Amino acid sequence: MSIPPPDALSPLAMATEQLRLAADRLNMSEDTFQMLRRFERVLTVTFPVRLDDGRVELFTGYRVLHCTDRGPGKGGVRYAPDLTVDEVSALAMWMTWKCAVVDIPFGGAKGGVRCDVRELSLTELERLTRRYTFEISPVIGPGADIPAPDMNTNERTMAWMMDTYSMFTGRTTLGVVTGKPVCLGGSHGRKQATARGVLIVMKRAMDKLGMRPAGSRVVIQGFGNVGMHAALIAHNEYGMKVVAVGDAYASLANPKGIDVPRLAQYAERTGSVRGFDGADPISPSELLTTDCDVLIPAATSAQITAHNAPFIKARIVAEGANGPTTPEADRILEANGVLVLPDILANAGGVTVSYFEWVQDLQSFFWPEEQVNQQLARVMESAFERVWDRAQRDKCDMRTAATMLGISTIAHATELRGVYP
Ligand code: NAD
Repeated sequence: MSIPPPDALSPLAMATEQLRLAADRLNMSEDTFQMLRRFERVLTVTFPVRLDDGRVELFTGYRVLHCTDRGPGKGGVRYAPDLTVDEVSALAMWMTWKCAVVDIPFGGAKGGVRCDVRELSLTELERLTRRYTFEISPVIGPGADIPAPDMNTNERTMAWMMDTYSMFTGRTTLGVVTGKPVCLGGSHGRKQATARGVLIVMKRAMDKLGMRPAGSRVVIQGFGNVGMHAALIAHNEYGMKVVAVGDAYASLANPKGIDVPRLAQYAERTGSVRGFDGADPISPSELLTTDCDVLIPAATSAQITAHNAPFIKARIVAEGANGPTTPEADRILEANGVLVLPDILANAGGVTVSYFEWVQDLQSFFWPEEQVNQQLARVMESAFERVWDRAQRDKCDMRTAATMLGISTIAHATELRGVYP
């Protein structure tokens, strides 16, 4: 059997390869490696949902718990038509490393339902979410596993999940999910947190490279929760020029800089950037190779590949999305002097403020937004410095450094806890 080229690796094969490489570099014992490559629990649920026309359709969902050695599981819920347990498992493993990189006391988890949200009405989506939550209710909880939003889920989804779980347990349990509306135990600043975190580490990286955000050009792929807020914060707070953006429906460029607040209003109204009159349409492949200083992939995985990596002109790639760069593309970008700020560092702002939200829910004591943002900046900046120092010390790229940092932190915890009984 021939070995598939790295670009063709499945997400789980990619995640396991990263773990194997880190284990070798860290001289990890085979026992610890085996403990870290396993998943504590992989739950598959198949459940019926009544559609608006009276028919019943079956859906498949997952909740995967990778490792709880440093705390309860934490990870998003993704709705996607091509979702697989392989992808969900890889994302759960990356969540474990991510929480360790930013040093918050959670383990890794992830979940989702295989469905196309564009084909479901709001009431169908609510019934699907509630039934999925019911199916996974025995394994989630504030001390066990805490879901959050991810692709195609949002704070409304989290409100339905919190309500369903609360009905299941007979008491209102705010801390069972994060990313909720602020009036239901959500945290100020959570919606913007992932994007804000991406820009905090981008700024630190620019400082190291002698670059300045003001006037720099940024390209953003994905215009959902992460991409839209990244565009708004880059434009409004960092004075950057957003020269191209794209979503699943269209890509647009304006070398003079897009009027981002107007685009955000337009996209919120229409559900897409398609048809916006303040920029010119370009192809999705042109988007990633548009001339710019910073590229923020904030859509989905495996977007920067061996095919387009040689043509990327950005000096910094700050990964808002999870797994947007394939290992082969990583090598090409490194050889071309592009600094890649890896997902498990760059997009950890979301899980960090999720952690703050969970702490606030457990204490029933809520923080003002300035406090959330200050604490977020503290966590992201110190994580960036730890990863940067490790990369300098080990003469490696930032992804290797972040992965080693995350994995060695978990390995240490796993070894200290020992094997039960
Ligand atoms: P979202 O559903 O709100 O937005 C996704 C955006 O990407 C949409 O604009 C969609 O049209 C676009 N998109 C999807 N496929 C695309 C494609 N092939 N090409 C171009 N655009 C495409 O999702 P989100 O919450 O913003 O998440 C985006 C990414 O960030 C995901 O990889 C997610 O795992 C990651 N992430 C999200 C958070 C969070 O807090 N929401 C935290 C960490 C990481």
